[in-house]
Amino acid sequence: MPSLKRLPFEIQGHSVAPGSRAQIHLPAGVFTNNTPVEINLTVVHGKLPGPTLMVTGCVHGDEINGPEIIRRLLKSSSIRRLRGTLIAVPIVNVPAFLNRSRYLPDRRDLNRLFPGSATGSLGSRIARVVTDELIPRCDAVIDLHTGTVNRPNLPQIRVTTEDQASFDLGLVFRAPVILQAPLRPNSFRAVCDELGKPIILFESGEALRLDAPSIRHGVQGVLAVMRHLELLPKRRGSLKATRKNTITSHKSYWERAPIGGLFTPLIALGKTVEINDSLGFVADPFGGPEIPILATRQGVIIGRTNEGLADEGDALFHIALFEDLEQVRDQMVAANQALPDLVPELDDHPVPYDPFTEEVSEP
Ligand SMILES: [Zn+2]
Repeated sequence: MPSLKRLPFEIQGHSVAPGSRAQIHLPAGVFTNNTPVEINLTVVHGKLPGPTLMVTGCVHGDEINGPEIIRRLLKSSSIRRLRGTLIAVPIVNVPAFLNRSRYLPDRRDLNRLFPGSATGSLGSRIARVVTDELIPRCDAVIDLHTGTVNRPNLPQIRVTTEDQASFDLGLVFRAPVILQAPLRPNSFRAVCDELGKPIILFESGEALRLDAPSIRHGVQGVLAVMRHLELLPKRRGSLKATRKNTITSHKSYWERAPIGGLFTPLIALGKTVEINDSLGFVADPFGGPEIPILATRQGVIIGRTNEGLADEGDALFHIALFEDLEQVRDQMVAANQALPDLVPELDDHPVPYDPFTEEVSEP
């Protein structure tokens, strides 16, 4: 009879015994001061066999909700019951993380450098290590992102809906919204797809901030995927609840600044909007016109700038398109009940004044 003994997890001469965890450093290059660039990972290798899930953060170096989600995941008591293997990579883009920047020191985007090259730029070398050493060892990948600086996102999954295995993971994650996102050439997702590994991308919050609802959503979502893949014991009835609480949008668009000036938003993330709803206004700082931003299509606000300044054409509101706004409203209420501070009761701007619907009240 063949031996059923569980083998250790092995990578580049490191070995992690079943029922243990280890931190491993994979060399990827050398910094300007001659110190090594290493991708650090924590491998939790369960005592019992099962699939391997990789969770990655900071492919964009300033998107730090990802490392915090992974940190909490590794602290979670649930992990003690792990079957299979968890590969946790909180900071993929180490040089960008150290610079508190989205981009690599040569200003390139790591998420456009996959599959990478062992003889290419620093970012290309990092991509190559991930492509050669990590992706092939996985059965599925969750990549954690945020919006950019001052541009928070509603918790959402970006996935290719044509890829059923990835889409199923997206449903299980139970973010309030799933947004169909085509694969971009040379992205981390595209390479995972080429290698036949289901991947979902979680977007929530903004760069350089730890945002509690985003982090809680992320941790709960990753644990739900782990239960679905049977890395953790399943909970009864969880799939039913999952399908009820996620809505999928196949398209999104940005409302942009109609003029340059001071921007006042009047609507928060997670709100539904109908055509011609007032979203905010841009005002001439010299006392000239106040131009409304009216929704040109109906949907839900999934991203918004928090900057009070806009050049003409700046992206202000990211709106996921939906046909059935009733369903979207119900979903946002459900998401809000699950995570009370996700969608504030009141719009979050301190000026409750909309020149297009209200009289100006003198103080
Ligand atoms: Zn990102």
